[in-house]
Amino acid sequence: MSEKLYKYLREEVFPTPFCPGCGHGILLQTILRAIDELDIDIKKIVFVSGIGCAAWIPSPHFKADTLHTLHGRPLAFATGIRITRPDLEIMVISGDGDLGAIGGNHLIHTARRNLKIITICVNNSIYGMTGGQVSPTTPKDIITETSPFGNPEEPFDLCALVKSCGAEFVCRYTVFHTKPLKKSIQKAFQINGFSFIDVISPCVTHYGRRNKMPTLYDFYQFIIKNIISYEKAKSLNKEELKNKIIIGEYV
Ligand code: SF4
Repeated sequence: MSEKLYKYLREEVFPTPFCPGCGHGILLQTILRAIDELDIDIKKIVFVSGIGCAAWIPSPHFKADTLHTLHGRPLAFATGIRITRPDLEIMVISGDGDLGAIGGNHLIHTARRNLKIITICVNNSIYGMTGGQVSPTTPKDIITETSPFGNPEEPFDLCALVKSCGAEFVCRYTVFHTKPLKKSIQKAFQINGFSFIDVISPCVTHYGRRNKMPTLYDFYQFIIKNIISYEKAKSLNKEELKNKIIIGEYV
């Protein structure tokens, strides 16, 4: 990591708890780069997270105000902060299970209210911290701890969901798209409404190991093979879109 970013980190908590090859470290650095380039005072940002590996990105790493809240409840806490402290920026960083399943109700209603909250969904398509159970974004047929014969369910497209609820800015990138990802985080600071950035972040330990992608490089190859732009995805049918990773701006 660039030395100039050290000032945003609680170095006493290193090394990170993330597994070698986890995508979360790349995202951690990309968020800090976005903030540093905008020259936003990190003390004017409140970071809120729920429970899960992704929640460890801001808390305890960021040298800022961080709320590590109940499972599925970061957006409820963020709403409270937004109402009482309109002078602060609020960034929720949490996982797909935390935001899309356990906190799914909070997600749709925060998007419906279109509150000025930046939400970064760290989407590893699995419950990583608790051993790799199926989550609402696990692609069909993928093997997990709780779907040893392949996930029989269709996954949620969380971007399509929050877009339909009224979110102001919605996009998806992977941790390998660091430039557009950084730009989208910077754009979210300018948006006067709900921003939702879905970031595909590989869980090599549980998702990768069970699905023949035990390293970050394997995941990179998989993503290169399967990414598709939001514009192109509009012209494809459901079968053609099966397990594709749709990237770009939804709204
Ligand atoms: S379990 Fe998965 S998501 Fe959690 S730190 Fe390890 S690789 Fe990352």
